[in-house]
Amino acid sequence: MMDAERKMQFLFALRSMGVTDTRTLTAMETIDRGAFMRGIFTGRAYEDMPLPIACGQTISQPSIVGLMTQALSIRPRDKVLEVGTGSGYQAAILSQLARRIYTVDRHRRLVREARVIFERLDLTNITAITGDGSFGLPDQAPFDRILVTAAAEDPPGPLLAQLRQGGIMVVPVGQSDAVQTLIKVTRGEDGFDYEELRPVRFVPLIEGLGQD
Ligand code: SAH
Repeated sequence: MMDAERKMQFLFALRSMGVTDTRTLTAMETIDRGAFMRGIFTGRAYEDMPLPIACGQTISQPSIVGLMTQALSIRPRDKVLEVGTGSGYQAAILSQLARRIYTVDRHRRLVREARVIFERLDLTNITAITGDGSFGLPDQAPFDRILVTAAAEDPPGPLLAQLRQGGIMVVPVGQSDAVQTLIKVTRGEDGFDYEELRPVRFVPLIEGLGQD
């Protein structure tokens, strides 16, 4: 668990990186990032750094999790899709703010492990699914909010199509190892509005299912 001192430092670091939304900060105070990590890295869970998880993937940097979460302006009744479950940490943060979270990862193992943690933390409003998230989840669409936590060259078409009118999608775009930009897409009455938020660095969005 986070002791009081570490928690204060963690929240201070988030604020100084621009995470100022109260609901987002409260969610990040409630959900222990250490619960989503294993082995030698658990001791570093409260540092503002991305860290390695299974399947060669990473748990995102907490300040980026916070900035993406607040950029989504989530409302309590929202149905949210996350592409890229990874450790499950981001989905757990979203679960505190929205009615229902669907999260998809191409690695079966990551989905399985995240489900165990969601159950342990009693986060019953998250459904974790193995699949290629670039196609979204047509059966559950439309979504009020969509968050992509792997970088695509462009916002995937099926995800744009599954965004509800008035909905918001946050997605990192750009070549895998080059400069990527976090963008916010808002679906208006007559089309999509694109806003650049900041430079970021994510693992790439990859087609098809993973080996494990
Ligand atoms: N949100 C995660 C971090 C995600 S890292 C967290 O909070 O820990 C990016 C994740 O995207 C990886 O787990 C990777 O397996 C997944 N991913 C990459 N391409 C994907 C695709 N096409 N569909 C679903 N998941 C994908």
